[in-house]
Amino acid sequence: MKLAQRAAGISPSPTLAIDGKAKQMKAAGIKVINFGVGEPDFDTPENIKLAAIEAINAGETRYTPAGGTVKLKQAIVDKFQKDNGLEYQLNQIAVSVGAKHSLYNAFQVLCEPGDEVILPAPYWVSYIEQIKLAGAEVVILPTRQENDFKLTPGELEQAITPKTRVFLLNSPSNPTGSVYSREELAALGEVLLKHNITIISDEIYEKLLYDGLEHISIASISPELKENTVVINGVSKAYAMTGWRIGYCAAPTPIAKAISDLQSHSTSNPTSIAQAASVAALNGPQDAVYEMVAEFDKRRNYMLERLTSIAGITCPKPKGAFYLFPNVSAYFGKSYQGKTINNGTDLANLLLEVAEVAIVPGIAFGSNDNVRLSYATSLENIKEGLDRIEKFLAELQ
Ligand code: PMP
Ligand code: GLU
Repeated sequence: MKLAQRAAGISPSPTLAIDGKAKQMKAAGIKVINFGVGEPDFDTPENIKLAAIEAINAGETRYTPAGGTVKLKQAIVDKFQKDNGLEYQLNQIAVSVGAKHSLYNAFQVLCEPGDEVILPAPYWVSYIEQIKLAGAEVVILPTRQENDFKLTPGELEQAITPKTRVFLLNSPSNPTGSVYSREELAALGEVLLKHNITIISDEIYEKLLYDGLEHISIASISPELKENTVVINGVSKAYAMTGWRIGYCAAPTPIAKAISDLQSHSTSNPTSIAQAASVAALNGPQDAVYEMVAEFDKRRNYMLERLTSIAGITCPKPKGAFYLFPNVSAYFGKSYQGKTINNGTDLANLLLEVAEVAIVPGIAFGSNDNVRLSYATSLENIKEGLDRIEKFLAELQ
């Protein structure tokens, strides 16, 4: 049977693939250290789980409006007001099946063949496929490690053509952990407004910030930028709710409406019970978030210190999210028992095979010289994993 071109051209998510492999090894009794997937290792906070149970008992088990319940949309409107100083109306919010789905919907309603989407690299794995699925062309714009992997307004300006339709912004970033300041966002925003380019701003790691940094949404910088931005967020990362599948967007009314309408023909509403749980996440006490961030911060510092003390490895200090993206190119050309490491993929494969540590090769994020390690795992695992990595690298010839 012939597959449509759309499907034939898709490659599976490399982060989920590595996670699957690591989990398979674990199930086979191998003590794998999994630095592969970006998923909080904490349990969903109790008050959120209780809200879901209460929703089931109260019979909230039916279809909801396709774009989300009024209660959840109101909680999202309140969140934007409280956290970001952004005023939205209920009809400017659309709730979807995870932020990944919100992003997918946004590309679908904004892009078409002939459009270009500027994607700064390193980038999260799913953007490329989602842009291609919308029929648009991906324009990858590399950033420099010396500049904390952040784009300058000049670099952005140079990549813009008359076909540029959307700019993808992800701050805090997966995989680099870079965070743009208000001034940096304002400078990028000025360029984007000048060329009338829509911004998709993926802010899923908003709550995972360190060193006292404050999250700035590019939409909050001026009313003009708000009019040109689709903000994407969700509950997966902040509230350890990856399996619940709730993400959302805030956008000018016609875009939010188009997303809800599109969704009404694909998934219909996101799960009613998960929506009720998300209301509790957003409206309830936020202590669990602060506790998780404090724990991630300890892990970040420990992992960074251990990694950068290994000869040849460099890594900017991430300011947000829960990833390190070290440059490991000093090890390319070395070999393990006759097997040469030519790139990050070889290194990741050998590391999994020999040392039983899962990491993601940087090429998945558009950067061959790096690899990604997630520190969303216990400090005990991080210590053990770093011991193994150090030993493995020392054995290379
Ligand atoms: N954006 C980024 C940058 C991510 O790392 C993730 C994590 N999978 C998502 C979006 C999607 O998150 P989710 O679909 O779980 O809400
Ligand atoms: N965002 C996570 C990661 O990058 C989850 C995996 C995925 O959705 O691709 O590892």
